[in-house]
Amino acid sequence: MAYLGSPKATLEVINKYGFAFQKRFGQNFLIDSNILENIVSAANITKEDFVLEIGPGIGTMTQYLCENAREVVAVEIDKSLIPILQDTLSEYNNVEVINEDVLKVDIKKLAEERNDGKPIKVVANLPYYITTPIIMGLFESGVPIDSITIMVQKEVADRMKTGPGSKDYGALSLAVQYYATADIVLKVPASCFMPKPNVDSAVIKLTRHKDTQVKVSNEKLMFKIIRASFNQRRKTLANGLKNSPELNFTREQVTEALVSMGKSESVRGEAFTLEEFAKLTDILNSK
Ligand code: SAM
Repeated sequence: MAYLGSPKATLEVINKYGFAFQKRFGQNFLIDSNILENIVSAANITKEDFVLEIGPGIGTMTQYLCENAREVVAVEIDKSLIPILQDTLSEYNNVEVINEDVLKVDIKKLAEERNDGKPIKVVANLPYYITTPIIMGLFESGVPIDSITIMVQKEVADRMKTGPGSKDYGALSLAVQYYATADIVLKVPASCFMPKPNVDSAVIKLTRHKDTQVKVSNEKLMFKIIRASFNQRRKTLANGLKNSPELNFTREQVTEALVSMGKSESVRGEAFTLEEFAKLTDILNSK
């Protein structure tokens, strides 16, 4: 099987199997070999590496990953792609395809079983609607991660790098900044995909910090507080925390904590830096 990264090779596979693109799975396949080479090279995959690919599609990027990695596990939700992947990846003996929703896969267990619990590399051309739960899930569930190299909608890439004051600032920006260094490595025009999406994309590489740069007494609590603060965007941070089903602080405890930080009780979550969320968590955690 030749490399798939061209419009002609992709069409051949699609016609051979009578494959119908499914919008609900965000299926836009890469058809540009330069972009594929650049993604694999940015991910810095070597023969030592165990790689998790999320959403292999017809296996276009998977082929490049198999060439470069020690072992690849590719998780694909669409069962009609499984016979296609068996065909397009038949030359490789270092790949396993799992037909499952990646959000239901125990990735921590996968890393333990396949990579002795050592940090894994994740590469994905993600459907845009699951970008946030995947990234936050990977970081928060304690999966040993070296890096996550992902194609996302250009706006989502910008959101990961932004700080307080921007309309794009939110739980995803804070999670990314807490756990990793984010570099936009490539801009990818819509014409590099089949079918052509309505938006431009970017490849972003998240390299996990060896040690977190912001210290906090209770990481899980901090992310509950962060999520609660951004859940109701037009509400104050204090109201967000009070209304969160995940938290049970009284209004007085929250107000007291904010005042002790020199903040007004009407402050909004989008004005808080990561360091300030960490400090607020430490104060509330000691109550
Ligand atoms: N990697 C291929 C490429 O670059 O050409 C395909 C990328 S396409 C944007 C996204 C892929 O993710 C599709 O194959 C889709 O079926 C799959 N997918 C969507 N939701 C998924 C989920 N929850 N778990 C696993 N795969 C998913």
